Amino acid sequence: MVRSDSHPSTDEQQFECIDCLERVVSDDRVSVCPVCGSRMQNVSLPRE
Ligand SMILES: [Zn+2]
Repeated sequence: MVRSDSHPSTDEQQFECIDCLERVVSDDRVSVCPVCGSRMQNVSLPRE
């Protein structure tokens, strides 16, 4: 396994439903709300 970047393996992002505001934290992209089925948007803030 070759890793070309130096980022840590924990790459969680937070997603928020545009409709019911349900929040999901995942290291995979979440595009559909598990509660209402609406679209999720990435609300993770970049860390410095
Ligand atoms: Zn929702």
